[in-house]
Amino acid sequence: MQRAVDDIIVGQGLAGTTLAWALRGRGRRVVVIDPEEAVTSSRIAAGLITPVTGQRLVPTWRQQEFWPVACDFYRRVEAETKTKFFERRSMVRLFVSESERQRYCDRADAELAGLVRDPEQPLNADCFDASLGAFEMPDGGRLDVATYLDASRAWLRANNAMVSGRIDPLRDVNLKDDGVVLPGFGLRAERLVFCEGAAGRGNPWFDSVRFRPAKGEILTLQIPGLEEDRVIHRGIWLVRVADDRYMAGSTYEWEQLDCEPTPAGREEICERLRAFLRLPFEVVGHMAAVRPALADFRPVLGPHPEHPQLVCFNGLGAKGSLQAPFFARQLAALLAGEGAIDDEVNVLRMFPERANGLKPPTAMSSGREPRRQLTRQAHDIVREVLAVGDVAVDATAGNGHDTRLLAQLVGDGGKVFAFDVQEEALVRTEKRLREAGLTHVMLLQRDHAELAAAIPVELHGRIAAVMFNLGYLPGGDHSVVTRTDATLQALEAALELVRPGGVMTVMVYRGHPGGQEEAAAVERLLVDLDPHRWDHRTVDNQSAGTGPRLHIVRRRSPSEAGHDAEDAQCVPWC
Ligand SMILES: Cc1cc2nc3c(=O)[nH]c(=O)nc-3n(C[C@H](O)[C@H](O)[C@H](O)COP(=O)(O)OP(=O)(O)OC[C@H]3O[C@@H](n4cnc5c(N)ncnc54)[C@H](O)[C@@H]3O)c2cc1C
Repeated sequence: MQRAVDDIIVGQGLAGTTLAWALRGRGRRVVVIDPEEAVTSSRIAAGLITPVTGQRLVPTWRQQEFWPVACDFYRRVEAETKTKFFERRSMVRLFVSESERQRYCDRADAELAGLVRDPEQPLNADCFDASLGAFEMPDGGRLDVATYLDASRAWLRANNAMVSGRIDPLRDVNLKDDGVVLPGFGLRAERLVFCEGAAGRGNPWFDSVRFRPAKGEILTLQIPGLEEDRVIHRGIWLVRVADDRYMAGSTYEWEQLDCEPTPAGREEICERLRAFLRLPFEVVGHMAAVRPALADFRPVLGPHPEHPQLVCFNGLGAKGSLQAPFFARQLAALLAGEGAIDDEVNVLRMFPERANGLKPPTAMSSGREPRRQLTRQAHDIVREVLAVGDVAVDATAGNGHDTRLLAQLVGDGGKVFAFDVQEEALVRTEKRLREAGLTHVMLLQRDHAELAAAIPVELHGRIAAVMFNLGYLPGGDHSVVTRTDATLQALEAALELVRPGGVMTVMVYRGHPGGQEEAAAVERLLVDLDPHRWDHRTVDNQSAGTGPRLHIVRRRSPSEAGHDAEDAQCVPWC
């Protein structure tokens, strides 16, 4: 006799636990299955929520949206379990250099407004070296993850909703038209949600999910005489967990993906600590685990496109404490028959051939305004990078708007190469340039796949900006569209052309026939770029699946090499 529930959750880490609460909150009957291992990513995590992160001092992705949801959620579970595990913690970040301090000053009243302030209380100079100054993030937080998981597990167990064990995703799961059956566990359900963390890499149902897990090590320290409740950041973080006991971390390692603490990891943390902590300390604990991060640094959630009984919730990366409540709520709503998953986290993006299953465009996302806004953003990006005398490429001249801008920015002393297969496009571009009095542009009626061959070899690796607009010529023949194979060839060639510090912008239109396929292929190519060499971001005006999307790909300069990891979104020094 099988016990019937609504949802089975595989894994009781941050993802599975938070989803279990969200589903229970919607009145769904849930069972969680977990092997109850002592060391998991969630169990060793510091649980910090840090509003501003990375070398470039950027606001954490959607922080302002996620933070109130997280605060509200953890408070409710604290009340339900009568256990304390979440607290607001102010954070102080020490500057590592004068240029970082300057960057802070430039941004404090602009994009960091509301997130930062000058420290209300100075740091104790006997304990910390803060000679270059610091700023404070008053709305930081800390989830004591292990206590949250333990309290939740006890509650689930008391409510007959916790099963100890490990499931084999293939052998233990029988798919039925109306759900799943787990004969070995005596369970049947409408849905099975995989929340396996980094172990999800081996899940054959979701093997197209592109994981990029990162091992992290963390130390527990005894620091006699230190009285500091704020979290201190300087390359690593230091957080008080009890009296004179602190935790410090963490490291990032992408090759050796195991849970073994290493001498090198320990030394790295100690060395970074000594750079700002003036007190002696003793290492009393050392742990390691693997963060379940994805190649595009975003969580992944939603039903499998062909087997909707199977669902995934993973990829919380280094920001599980902040993101889990928001996305658990979103997924629970979907499973209860309401709402939808944001496209940028939807598991469908991992199934490019099914990408057209994403939500239909809204009026906004298919209209002119989003296109105009994204175009403007692309223009702003090249404006930041280009200087007089530079060389730039418009890989798809179209109506000549981008070509004209590039020519204006590089000035008479610079050079622009503009490509288009259609004569009509080059005629329009030529007219636009003539009207603007711009003469230093070479117009080439060639396929952009021939980019590398058409541009003098001595300029390879020296181009400051390359712009692409994929799709058809607005106002032209809509049957002439960019071809996926030629586009990929062109993008690969363009990557070879861009100089360190240079940028490539790629506007992708997905609404025309073949557009989705081309967009997915472009996405795959760019997402897989080596993050040590390239900084890749995407911007959507709306989250609709067929709306335009802007890719911004910046080639890192050599001076950034030592700091690449921290700048990547999955490395928030949390
Ligand atoms: C050193 C370190 C420091 C961190 N610091 C922070 C921080 O300060 N702030 C922050 O927000 N995040 C931090 N993180 C990241 C955070 O821990 C992750 O985002 C979070 O743990 C992900 O939770 P998860 O539930 O997806 O995965 P996990 O925690 O890995 O949980 C997955 C669960 O699924 C179980 N499982 C796997 N396979 C199966 C199976 N086949 N059957 C049954 N059960 C299975 C596992 O045993 C485990 O219990 C840190 C991580 C590390 C490693």
